[in-house]
Amino acid sequence: MAEFTLDLNDDQKQVRDWLHGFAADVIRPAAAEWDEREETPWPVIQEAAKVGIYSLDFYAQQFFDPTGLGIPMAMEELFWGDAGIALSIVGTGLAAVGVLANGTEEQIGTWIPQMYGDANDVKVAAFCSSEPDAGSDVASMRTRAVYDQAKDEWVLNGTKTWATNGGIANVHVVVAVVDAELGSKGHASFIVPPNTPGLSQGQKFKKHGIRASHTAEVVLEDVRVPGHCLLGGKEKLDQRMARARERAQSGGERVKNAAMATFEASRPAVGAMAVGTARAAYEVALDYARTRTQFGRPIIDNQGIAFQLADMRTQIDAARLLVWRASWMATTGKPFESAEGSMSKLYASETAKKVTAQAIQILGGNGFTREYPVERMHRDAAIYTIFEGTSEIQRLVIARTLSGMPIR
Ligand SMILES: Cc1cc2nc3c(=O)[nH]c(=O)nc-3n(C[C@H](O)[C@H](O)[C@H](O)COP(=O)(O)OP(=O)(O)OC[C@H]3O[C@@H](n4cnc5c(N)ncnc54)[C@H](O)[C@@H]3O)c2cc1C
Repeated sequence: MAEFTLDLNDDQKQVRDWLHGFAADVIRPAAAEWDEREETPWPVIQEAAKVGIYSLDFYAQQFFDPTGLGIPMAMEELFWGDAGIALSIVGTGLAAVGVLANGTEEQIGTWIPQMYGDANDVKVAAFCSSEPDAGSDVASMRTRAVYDQAKDEWVLNGTKTWATNGGIANVHVVVAVVDAELGSKGHASFIVPPNTPGLSQGQKFKKHGIRASHTAEVVLEDVRVPGHCLLGGKEKLDQRMARARERAQSGGERVKNAAMATFEASRPAVGAMAVGTARAAYEVALDYARTRTQFGRPIIDNQGIAFQLADMRTQIDAARLLVWRASWMATTGKPFESAEGSMSKLYASETAKKVTAQAIQILGGNGFTREYPVERMHRDAAIYTIFEGTSEIQRLVIARTLSGMPIR
């Protein structure tokens, strides 16, 4: 088991510097354009695919880094470049993780390559769980999956919302209710293969931030998928639901809400994205404060400005340490006894919102314009306290974990 250390090894430093170079040379220069266009930056994704950053192999390598620092380092550097473009690059990973976590080896081998495509023909994938009436409260999900035994097909009906890459994805992973009595234990995930009739894109959202990332509703009308598209297979689902029914009947363990508990382990990755955005805004503000002169001296010579920068840097470093701790714990199999995953996401996302707002203030009028990137970074930072569990839900998970109450 890897000991916790803050000393990056040579391989980690090399990957970090390579990603930083891509973020600085390719992502950052394209950021303002794709933010204004509010479209998926296909050419940038293609560049990322060409150099090997847009592929399952790359993320698997980072994921299996025994120190746990591979993923947070990668996220921090890419999101330092630009959050909207970086989300377009890593968004497919959400769906890929859905398949890796629940799929059979055959499903992993069949669908994940189709999610990414290749460098000459890049594709994206979407993970569709949220619904208009089931955001934080995943157990309220309404999308139904009904098994048609005669044809060995599943029939999906419902409306998903907020799906990153929804409707433009080659492969959609859709979470649906198989047995409503069981709450989130009665949910299952399905692959919807490319060009399946009945799946369409609903509204595409015009967003406040991360505008280079496509977010849309996904409408499912009598979508028929073959039996082999149920992730994990029917036998495993039947066994899992039989166990859940038994527990429910015996009044045993309460059914947990997936949005509150299941993604605890993935939350440090979102925390790392927030650290990347916060660091980017801090660096712009520091540079500006050193060079902008008022009253005959650089504005950083005023304590009012210098102390803000001191706080910003301290909070960013604290956020990174929480993220690294949680990632190391997750990788080395240490249980999150104090909801350390949620702590890292909560603190890093709130820090990103605060630090990017301070950066605008330090740049004065310039900070308020689109001539400087901190305005965009502040809009982007707002997403971190919302997706993958809002800050309120993180606090709820932490508080219930500490108090020993069930997370439901
Ligand atoms: C840009 C973007 C991309 C997204 N990408 C995806 C994706 O790819 N796939 C996907 O499935 N989903 C995605 N989401 C959905 C996201 O995860 C949800 O928006 C999030 O879980 C919150 O759900 P909600 O928006 O319905 O808010 P609600 O759950 O309605 O919450 C509204 C407010 O009430 C608060 N609240 C709710 N319950 C409680 C409580 N018990 N105690 C205290 N406060 C509470 C919340 O914290 C929030 O402040 C995305 C969202 C956005 C905005």
